[in-house]
Amino acid sequence: MSNPTVENLVIIGSGPAGFTAAIYAGRANLKPVVFEGYQMGGIPGGQLMTTTEVENFPGFPDGITGPQLMDKMKAQAVRWGAELYTEDVVSVDLSERPFTVKSEERELKTHTIVIATGATAKRLNLPHEQEFWSNGISACAICDGATPIFKGVELVVIGGGDTAAEEAVYLTKYGSHVHLLVRRGEMRASKAMQDRVLAHPKITVHWHTEAVDVYGEGAKFGGVKVKNNQTGEEKDLPAGGLFYAIGHTPNTQLFQGQLALDDVGYVVTQHGVQTSVEGVYAVGDVQDHEFRQAVTAAGTGCMGAMLAERWLSAKG
Ligand code: FAD
Repeated sequence: MSNPTVENLVIIGSGPAGFTAAIYAGRANLKPVVFEGYQMGGIPGGQLMTTTEVENFPGFPDGITGPQLMDKMKAQAVRWGAELYTEDVVSVDLSERPFTVKSEERELKTHTIVIATGATAKRLNLPHEQEFWSNGISACAICDGATPIFKGVELVVIGGGDTAAEEAVYLTKYGSHVHLLVRRGEMRASKAMQDRVLAHPKITVHWHTEAVDVYGEGAKFGGVKVKNNQTGEEKDLPAGGLFYAIGHTPNTQLFQGQLALDDVGYVVTQHGVQTSVEGVYAVGDVQDHEFRQAVTAAGTGCMGAMLAERWLSAKG
């Protein structure tokens, strides 16, 4: 498109999805602008900046730390001409073309947008949680379950939905036993998942049970303080690890009323990443409540950039 004051593509978010979109768009000579985010829905580099080893991203047979992986993605995006602003987008207007994207510092017009604002894992914010975060406490069993500290020890999973049930079963491969804490007297998980959990010899379900704190010795995670919310009884549940499976909050507040969102707030997409507004694509965890992995986020980032490029070419 010829108007020089209108960007081809603005990418909102700088996790694996946003940076992959920036690499593809850069290589397609679209000169993408990336709002990295600052504090509204995460941090520059996204969720992987909060973790240590990433062992399942292809191409790194010895693993790589989350921040190192994100630095490499950022460098690759910059190499291909992406312009980065370490700013939060505070509003968008998708009702008129070109679209408007605003941060506190600037206002841009753009023909296309890739939304890569991710999702935030819900935490209970227990009094001593932060001391053991990423060192005994995790919000992703698939990402962290195989970590040596969780092998052969008792593990605790919190949650009553399908994710919690799946993660409890998954973690039986690593832990000696898995304790599933369910706040109510029943689970929200599907009947089939509940049956698997209840029949599993390595899983104990603790009904009406809530975590009230975690404890340990020095930096070593020691277990969860739990409370029966019917009897009020409190006790220590010794364990080598704790996994939250209580859901995620997609970072979509900016798009409410402008794009189709599902009942939890995830962006609804078709053809992989196409949103309800032409020329606007949603990629990564902001539209994926199922897989939530760096590699799937990167894959959809690629799709978003390619579809934006096709759209721009078609409107030429
Ligand atoms: P995110 O990484 O969430 O990035 C979202 C980006 O959007 C951030 O940069 C944020 O600042 C930005 N943003 C949000 N709102 C705004 C706004 N208003 N304006 C501008 N920017 C905004 N996956 C794996 O595959 N392997 C692992 O080992 C692994 N380990 C993990 C460990 C932890 C502790 C966590 C929390 C997750 C882990 N994951 C892992 C999952 C993985 O991190 C996510 O699936 C992936 O980061 C999703 O990428 P994304 O780009 O969609 O979003």
